[in-house]
Amino acid sequence: MKIHEYQGKELLRNFEVPVPRGYPAFNVREATEAAQRLGGKVWVVKAQIHAGGRGKGGGVKLARSLDEVTTLAGQMLGMQLVTHQTGAHGQKVRRLLVEEGADIRKEYYVAVLTDRATQKVVLMGSSEGGMDIEQVAHDTPEKIIKVFIDPLAGLGDAQAGELARGIGVPAPSQPQAAVLLKNLYRCYMETDATLTEINPLILEGNGELKALDAKFNFDANALFRHPEIVAYRDLDEEDPAEVEASKFDLSYISLDGNIGCLVNGAGLAMATMDTIKLFGGEPANFLDVGGGASAEKVTEAFKIMLRNRHVKGILVNIFGGIMRCDTIAEGVVAACKAVNLTVPLVVRMKGTNEDLGKQLLARSGLPIISADTMAEAATKIVAAVR
Ligand code: ADP
Ligand code: MG
Repeated sequence: MKIHEYQGKELLRNFEVPVPRGYPAFNVREATEAAQRLGGKVWVVKAQIHAGGRGKGGGVKLARSLDEVTTLAGQMLGMQLVTHQTGAHGQKVRRLLVEEGADIRKEYYVAVLTDRATQKVVLMGSSEGGMDIEQVAHDTPEKIIKVFIDPLAGLGDAQAGELARGIGVPAPSQPQAAVLLKNLYRCYMETDATLTEINPLILEGNGELKALDAKFNFDANALFRHPEIVAYRDLDEEDPAEVEASKFDLSYISLDGNIGCLVNGAGLAMATMDTIKLFGGEPANFLDVGGGASAEKVTEAFKIMLRNRHVKGILVNIFGGIMRCDTIAEGVVAACKAVNLTVPLVVRMKGTNEDLGKQLLARSGLPIISADTMAEAATKIVAAVR
């Protein structure tokens, strides 16, 4: 799960990681009031969306008067912000963060994340802050420094200091950097984050360090013990089809192709998508209806797939184990009738009560194309959508 920058900064503040003063704003009036409350002469108006690269896309702007804050807020709210992380259609801006303008002497990059290769938590940093870190890693990998943290010992002064020196924090600010990094690590661990990224971490003219940006990813499997983080969830930032699917306990991920897939079991769903691609098609989604799919659940799954205008055909691929093929066939027939299916449908069923299931489909009078093997199913659906 992701959260907004202003929410991330709230968490950082709770863990005593310094951040600029700032307030979220949901409309122009709130933005102007936030700037008034902050005082000072320079403000930064920042679009809040679940994607980075906002600066380059026009979602982070400096204002030198209250009028300018008001104007910028008016321009930004409601705009479709396009960054290299949003895709071509961008993301609509519904919230802003108005914060004090910082006096930036130097920008660094720091992050805490899970490293699968070493099975450890890694503290990563770079002197090249404020840039696209993937680009830095690609062009100048020597400028990325990693410190692997022993899960039992945690992050100590020595390692925190090593990173601070490694990224070039000047000596007088290194003690503050070490405290900040240890607090960042504690924040990462105690919130069950999988990523905590500060890009940029800045050194101000007075030698103080501050987190100027905040990005978090949280482990969805641990959210049950963090109601305070779940409360940060912003459904506007999530794919509506995926939100709808989660209500029915369906694992659904939207993709770019035109063949909807309804499958039971994540492994079979992956294999089905691969097979579609092998035969020249493109899947429109990943959809695992799980082990105990009822007719209602299958109907909901069809509705969710068909909300995608690009879907030109559907492939149902079911392995009947605990779930019997005749139950699924009933679900498919009921769903086709309920949604008034107008796109071609290929069904492949194997396993328990396979023959019964096939009979049900054949007798339904619906134009269902049946298939025996994965290859046959994929060939048929790819041909049908052409
Ligand atoms: P993104 O990563 O989405 O582009 P950031 O929050 O990192 O957004 O902002 C982009 C850049 O804008 C920063 O690298 C920094 O140079 C500048 N910036 C952001 N917030 C402030 C601020 N409060 N004061 C001054 N400059 C800022
Ligand atoms: Mg940033």
